[in-house]
Amino acid sequence: MLESIGGRPLDRRTFLMLGAAGAGALMLRAPPAGAAERVRTSARIVIAGAGAAGLATASRLAERLDGAKITLIDARKEHYYQPGFTLVGAGVKPASYVVSTTAEYVPGGVELIEERVAEFDPEGKRVVTESGRAVAYDYLVVATGLKLDYEAIPGMDVARIGRNGLGSIYHSPAAASATWGALQEFADKGGVGVFCRPATEMKCAGAPLKYTFITDDHLRRRGNRGKAELIYNANNKVLFSVPIVHEKVRMLFRDRGIKTHYDRVLQAIDPGRRIATFRSPEGTVEQPYDFINVIPPMRAPDAVRNSALRWQEGPWAAEGWMDVEKGNLRHKRFPEVFGVGDIAGVPKGKTAASVKWQVPVAVDHLVADIAGRKSDAVYNGYTSCPLITRLGRAMLVEFDYENNLVPSFPGVVAPLEELWVSWVMKTMALKPTYVSMLRGRA
Ligand SMILES: Cc1cc2nc3c(=O)[nH]c(=O)nc-3n(C[C@H](O)[C@H](O)[C@H](O)COP(=O)(O)OP(=O)(O)OC[C@H]3O[C@@H](n4cnc5c(N)ncnc54)[C@H](O)[C@@H]3O)c2cc1C
Repeated sequence: MLESIGGRPLDRRTFLMLGAAGAGALMLRAPPAGAAERVRTSARIVIAGAGAAGLATASRLAERLDGAKITLIDARKEHYYQPGFTLVGAGVKPASYVVSTTAEYVPGGVELIEERVAEFDPEGKRVVTESGRAVAYDYLVVATGLKLDYEAIPGMDVARIGRNGLGSIYHSPAAASATWGALQEFADKGGVGVFCRPATEMKCAGAPLKYTFITDDHLRRRGNRGKAELIYNANNKVLFSVPIVHEKVRMLFRDRGIKTHYDRVLQAIDPGRRIATFRSPEGTVEQPYDFINVIPPMRAPDAVRNSALRWQEGPWAAEGWMDVEKGNLRHKRFPEVFGVGDIAGVPKGKTAASVKWQVPVAVDHLVADIAGRKSDAVYNGYTSCPLITRLGRAMLVEFDYENNLVPSFPGVVAPLEELWVSWVMKTMALKPTYVSMLRGRA
């Protein structure tokens, strides 16, 4: 599929060079795993959530500790490679590309309890599962990811994704695949395509932009761009939080005739009449559509949001994100608790790329506590977004807490250029690196 869409053959030499470069850069730049040191302990460590961050944490702890009782808690049996959802929604990969099982990544010696955590009790140093089972801990790592709050959009019905122009690539692999079906119908006929992002914090803030570019490209490939109007609705005054990236995307949208509204947030949808209602500074705006990619508000899962672990004040209190130190992911009031991945209330992140950088830091601090020493590992807010700008091209945007661009390949991969090599990284090199991360090797 890649070959027919990317438009350039991938010879073996280039493939090897990219694989080595992609994996190599990600590994070289990762904080040290401390593989030589194995600490003997009988500590009880609970990890809530066995997605990207939970599994990566379990793998690293299992490697560094000898004798610890490590327990992962998660009811979800499937593992989703979520960075691939965009590719499924673009028709580049099948849904099977993003689905595997949780069990295959659980390291030896780690117990998996197949339930959800219903209650966090940090004062009592225990969690309680949905069946009422209490699990006591000495250390807790919260890695529950986030909740896609589709219910906060009146009229939204996830069962209708894929029908009547209603798309949503975030919901699940099946929804991403159904959205691809709806996008194809739209690309064949044209009409009004509507795109948006929520006003809350969100995972992969580049994904709404990518999908707008992808839709534009599919229309062009079918010769139907002239029959379509594409409208992107930004939740605030920018298209991307890093100013230079905002400016670049703004220019690309302008060049491709993608209309942009600022300060517009989806409030309700009528999938039968195909009308999306937006909140705007001018009041409520009804926007008819032929195709829409709905991205819901995102919040902490209820068990975290209703616990003492969340931020106590400010915008992140209502959304329920965990109140952790941004440099080491340690909870500010419960020092034996860490929060990694999307659940962490830190200024940047909510990508798998951030997980890859956060987990080794949090693990190093946890292991140092057990060993009775101090860790100086620091997470600088690194995150990355392979921003697809058309099929066969992407900009590999990497940045930190300060909005500095921090390219992994300075002089080789320019962050703000639409490059085929960045597209190949997104479509071929990132999944193997992600799987290595789950296994604690990247
Ligand atoms: C469409 C899309 C595109 C993306 N593109 C990219 C990209 O290009 N690059 C990139 O780096 N990242 C991308 N991401 C983001 C990336 O996938 C996430 O940031 C990453 O998966 C976060 O890992 P996590 O472990 O925090 O959450 P997840 O991987 O979502 O795992 C959370 C786990 O916690 C479990 N859980 C939830 N509640 C509870 C509970 N109460 N008790 C126990 N377990 C619980 C869930 O079942 C789940 O298994 C994308 C995501 C999406 C949806």
